[in-house]
Amino acid sequence: MPQAPPDSQDASLPAEPARRPQLGFVYTPPFRVQGLSIAGEESVVAVPELDVCFDIGSCPKAVLPSPFVALTHGHMDHVAGIAYYFSQRPFQGMSAGTVVCPPSLRDGLDGLMKAWQKIERQKTPYTLTPLADGEMLEIKNNHFLRPFRTVHTVPSSGYSVLEKRTKLKPKLVGMPQEEIVRRKNAGEAIVDTRFVPLVSYTGDTGWGDHLLIPEVLECRVLITECTFMERGHRRRAGVGKHLHLDHIVELVEQVGDETDVILTHLSRRTHMNDARKALAGAIPADKLDRVHLLMDSRTNRERFAQQQAQAVA
Ligand SMILES: [Zn+2]
Ligand SMILES: [Zn+2]
Repeated sequence: MPQAPPDSQDASLPAEPARRPQLGFVYTPPFRVQGLSIAGEESVVAVPELDVCFDIGSCPKAVLPSPFVALTHGHMDHVAGIAYYFSQRPFQGMSAGTVVCPPSLRDGLDGLMKAWQKIERQKTPYTLTPLADGEMLEIKNNHFLRPFRTVHTVPSSGYSVLEKRTKLKPKLVGMPQEEIVRRKNAGEAIVDTRFVPLVSYTGDTGWGDHLLIPEVLECRVLITECTFMERGHRRRAGVGKHLHLDHIVELVEQVGDETDVILTHLSRRTHMNDARKALAGAIPADKLDRVHLLMDSRTNRERFAQQQAQAVA
């Protein structure tokens, strides 16, 4: 006998499918930091102002405009969307994207894209650029991507975006323009060049001195992981080569006063309410407003509303 269509009041109706998770978003002027990051599931964090997306997760549509993707290591939850990224960019009318990766990942990723050619019977354009720790790649005018060493259960690197700034050498300041030009033409270096770290992303990493480097401690925005927060999970963090809240407390003590710290990769088992409380209990009150959980949409939304109100005022 055909069944009557279910009544909308019927308590036996099935649940609607889960909505797509909303992208986490923290605005740390002048940078937007947006993405998804839950340990083991997906990590993808884009900084649109710098044309770069760190890791690619399952490639949510919002990160497609990023012309560069910088992969930290080969775990699936950080890399899975790579073929989709390469394929969707031209499909959406954008130029082919470039994926930067640790040299150890290059062959595997190349094989993956070649396998897709066989499956799809079409050639998706792709550019893989292996970059060793300490090497630099210009990703936009005067802005360079540079990997640094991290320690995880597989080969891994973090990344910094550095801005190249030049300044006339102090001894030349005040000198007549013609004299400076004459010296320049004679081959004398007339400027001092320095690279200023703007944004750094550690990806998955265990704790150690490798994190206590200028690009991590002195950048404007530090995006790092905090997989574990519960007391007693510190050992677990050590075994999986991840960070625990205790490590973040140490890190926050050492970063510059101008540095915002954005935490990613929190375990799904930690409820956001508990994470918020744990953070507030662990980070000194005067630093708390500079430490953010990427996926804490409630707090981040409130904060952004305040930023908007201040911008209007
Ligand atoms: Zn991970
Ligand atoms: Zn990992």
